[in-house]
Amino acid sequence: MDTNYFQTLKELNLKATPKRLAILEIMALKPVYVSPEDVWQEMRMRFKTIGLPTVYRNLDELASGGVITKIINPDRQLYYFFCQKKHHHHHFICVFCHRIEELDFCAIREMETEFERKTGSKILSHIIQINGCCKKCRKGNP
Ligand SMILES: [Zn+2]
Ligand SMILES: [Zn+2]
Ligand SMILES: [Zn+2]
Repeated sequence: MDTNYFQTLKELNLKATPKRLAILEIMALKPVYVSPEDVWQEMRMRFKTIGLPTVYRNLDELASGGVITKIINPDRQLYYFFCQKKHHHHHFICVFCHRIEELDFCAIREMETEFERKTGSKILSHIIQINGCCKKCRKGNP
């Protein structure tokens, strides 16, 4: 497992430090988005003296490198998620159980082409996050 993430980090020109590898290991197992505090709780079991700022910094660096994705919860807090998909995709997040579904399709491309044609602008990227209540949670919160 370690070797795997070692390679992932290397490809992104990020140094594969033990802390970064541990963060990826912790996050890769989760189908939910997590807060820096959640990650910190688990990191403290492996690195006794690690501080929250260190976890914040590492998460931010991993996100800048593109290994993990930033998720903005409607509570405006910053969370992180380890994407399984590597190609262009979007997320449906359940704001109740924090589970994430990765959507394969992107409906924005067509709109972009139309916009570019009309305005002569060139679109470079887009960010979309779909917030909702998942099927499981809807049973509990009709
Ligand atoms: Zn994803
Ligand atoms: Zn849910
Ligand atoms: Zn898209």
